[in-house]
Amino acid sequence: MSDLPRIRSAHPFTVAFFSMEVGLDPAMPTYAGGLGILSGDTLRAAADMGVSMVGVTLLHRKGYFRQHLDAQGNQTESPAEWLPESFLEPLPFMVSVSIEGRQVQVRAWRYIVYGIGGHPVPVYFLDTATSQNSPWDQTLTDHLYGGDAHYRLCQEAVLGLGGIAMLRAIGHDRVRTYHMNEGHSALLTLALLKERAQGRGLLGLTKSDREAVRRRCVFTTHTPVPAGQDQFSLDLVRGVLGEEQTAALQTAECCLDSVLNMTYLGLANSHYINGVSMRHEEISSSMFPNYPINSVTNGVHAVTWTSKPFRDLYDQHIPEWRRDNLYLRYAISIPLDDIQKAHEQAKRDLLAEVERRSGVRLDPAILTLGFARRATAYKRADLLFSDLDRLRKIASDVGPLQVIYSGKAHPRDEAGKAQIRRVFRAAEALRGAVQVVYLEEYDMALGQSLCAGVDLWMNTPQKPLEASGTSGMKAALNGVPSLSVLDGWWVEGHVEGITGWSIGDNWEPGSNPDVESASLYHKLENAIMPLFYKNKDDFSKVMRWAIALNGSYYHAQRMVLQYMENAYLATGKG
Ligand SMILES: *Cc1c(COP(=O)(O)O)cnc(C)c1O
Repeated sequence: MSDLPRIRSAHPFTVAFFSMEVGLDPAMPTYAGGLGILSGDTLRAAADMGVSMVGVTLLHRKGYFRQHLDAQGNQTESPAEWLPESFLEPLPFMVSVSIEGRQVQVRAWRYIVYGIGGHPVPVYFLDTATSQNSPWDQTLTDHLYGGDAHYRLCQEAVLGLGGIAMLRAIGHDRVRTYHMNEGHSALLTLALLKERAQGRGLLGLTKSDREAVRRRCVFTTHTPVPAGQDQFSLDLVRGVLGEEQTAALQTAECCLDSVLNMTYLGLANSHYINGVSMRHEEISSSMFPNYPINSVTNGVHAVTWTSKPFRDLYDQHIPEWRRDNLYLRYAISIPLDDIQKAHEQAKRDLLAEVERRSGVRLDPAILTLGFARRATAYKRADLLFSDLDRLRKIASDVGPLQVIYSGKAHPRDEAGKAQIRRVFRAAEALRGAVQVVYLEEYDMALGQSLCAGVDLWMNTPQKPLEASGTSGMKAALNGVPSLSVLDGWWVEGHVEGITGWSIGDNWEPGSNPDVESASLYHKLENAIMPLFYKNKDDFSKVMRWAIALNGSYYHAQRMVLQYMENAYLATGKG
């Protein structure tokens, strides 16, 4: 690949990207949601661009979980067991991490992401299931986001401390930058400080040691709520990591009221800190006023999230798009007919998948709304059902409507599980008026097919809790406009009636559900449905703008380029 040589020559050093979850293959359940998908997309884009990057994560032998929904929408879970040996190559290295005074052995499996020009980005999956470890220690890398605080802290020790040790054992000696994707991996800073303190002990660290570590670290926060931050009591930390490491953490501006806050550990030890959208930068700056917060808005890996019909369409009209996603801007030259045809195919493919999974046959002529995301209270999956009579009336007066839902609730998120049940109840109440289906097991494969095959992508988070959101970006790549609350990326990506529609008309924090549901119904009734049913070409123009304006920008290639320019290349300075 001949493009972007400047980047490679300017940055001969390796970036180590750490994340608790990474989504690389739909058949590897090593991710839970947006954070993991973003990690996978980052690694894929880095490989395409020839960036020297390695990924570090945990193996998660039992995955996140498999979701089962009964007829009332009650969710139960079972482990998502998989066979690492069918996807990954075991490496002959063993490192150890001291946990509660035991030397826990950690090995690694490798997955190689190959870029469009063949450039490899290795990803290391850390694994403690080896016979040298006690039965309990062997389970440490089993469950993603499972277990109690003690289990989580042990996992984070494996990821941060074990991850650095593993990079050294493998021989990645040119790692210049450590990128922490959220706070779960922030203990890696402790490992780097320990390396600096060689011989003097952790308590002999100087200001310049800390500065040297800071210059190498980059921290991305994804959480706009304090409750979302990982925190551990210092008693627990002392038990797991021992006296000396705990004392070192206590001098690192990350402990308050006898609690270790992993976000603060990341912030205090990074020279570059960012939120994941313009809006999230503002929210994060008010949450962490002592730190300079930048932003790099998320992006999705364009080729991965573009459906086959649209890949073929772009290949035909703008073949450069695979190598350089910015060329998607030239989608403005694609005839509307061709866009309509490609979308009709993506929609047929989705509806066939819906029928295969649920037995429900949806009508391809009907305006189809999609909503799929983590089922948790602030995402408000049920906002569309605030006034069922109003919704019935719209469907009978303006035109028919059908809705496809999907999404898992964390096993301990009771409010999230209640959201799913409410969607099921609304579906029942709307029977005969508006068809609503809820698909189990939202994953990468279903995500791709859903974002591409519906006519309108709906997002209803409670402001300002959506840090970015990425599924609307996947939809845009497939010519699917969004109808969304002005939060996260949509604050930047929304142009009314051009790239989609807003729910409500401002992005001030705080949501008024009555105002928002009224706006949602109003836009459907007066703007979107008349366009869809009576003015197909104008609807297709919105689809084309969604690609040309948003598809061409909200992709991972632009995101990685921004990390290079603003965070990684700046590392060597000073
Ligand atoms: C894209 C994606 C997400 C994240 O989407 P949001 O818009 O951030 O909710 C989560 N899960 C899956 C399976 C996805 O494909």
